Amino acid sequence: MELMGYHLDIEGALEEVKGKGHRLIGLQFPDGLRDFYGPVSEAVEKATGAATVISADPSYGACDLVDDEMAKVNVDALMHFGHTRMPHMARFERIPLYFVRAESNHDVRPAVEAAVRQLPGKRIGVIATTQHLHKIEHALEILRRHGFDPQVQGGDARISAPGQVVGCNYSAADKDADAYLYIGSGNFHPLGLALNTEKPIVCADPYNNEVHTMEAERRRFLKQRYGAVAAAREAQTFGVLASSKQGQLRWNMAKALKARIEKKGRKAYLILLRQFSPDYLVNFRHLDAFVSTACPRVAIDDYGRYPKPMLTPIELEMVLGDRPLDQYRLDEIHGSSI
Ligand code: SF4
Repeated sequence: MELMGYHLDIEGALEEVKGKGHRLIGLQFPDGLRDFYGPVSEAVEKATGAATVISADPSYGACDLVDDEMAKVNVDALMHFGHTRMPHMARFERIPLYFVRAESNHDVRPAVEAAVRQLPGKRIGVIATTQHLHKIEHALEILRRHGFDPQVQGGDARISAPGQVVGCNYSAADKDADAYLYIGSGNFHPLGLALNTEKPIVCADPYNNEVHTMEAERRRFLKQRYGAVAAAREAQTFGVLASSKQGQLRWNMAKALKARIEKKGRKAYLILLRQFSPDYLVNFRHLDAFVSTACPRVAIDDYGRYPKPMLTPIELEMVLGDRPLDQYRLDEIHGSSI
């Protein structure tokens, strides 16, 4: 099925789903794809004979499945669109889950051709967001033709395919690369890679064929985050936030951070929530700072919306004096963290 520049392999997924005797199938989409619930629902119902129910809640990743909510209305399978399975989450699956990847139809070659002129070194780690993974081979062919030694590697148990990057995990990036080629849009993924590897990143955006590096964004970002660390330095009371989304729940980490804060003579409260928004923290306004153990993007993307400093676990270490300020790293969730 072709939708807004994406190929949704719904036909392949339905081959897997049909004949399993499902009676009610839940459908979960990220925001950009939910508009197409109509044709998808009709195709699923026609192929399987099951009824469907559509989740309207936001879905940001495969970390955020609605199988628990759907269980309340007795769905017996969930089809999740737009993201890939996180292998380490398999042990939490309570009903059959079917992942339907959305593959971008955009040609990555013009952006990659433009990017090679800015790549330093010879050994190049290649990473891509989920939508462009099926086109990595095109990038490798271009890099080899220009004399580079491109590398695509597998990641940890949170990563479903070689070369895949998600906003909380860069484990598929080749550790020995001289530089990285990132295929995708947005700055969050390459920013994390730039901070955590301290190597040059060249970004090739297949949507507009633009190429950029990350130095300016890295400087701007660090200025903002050191501002957050400075603002929390004198904090005496902390809210340690844990997500009730199974794929973002780092409960042991949250408990360890509370203990760490209290060891320094300050006070911490454990707070569990599903959706992160300043509205849900209004009753905790007397606390001096928060630290989020959920999706790393919570503290970063929405920082300006919170009236109190919102820290990542690594930034908390800096606030408590347990990590030197020049060792900034972006928070990652590893396959072993959950
Ligand atoms: S935790 Fe955040 S960055 Fe990681 S997959 Fe989920 S939504 Fe994406």
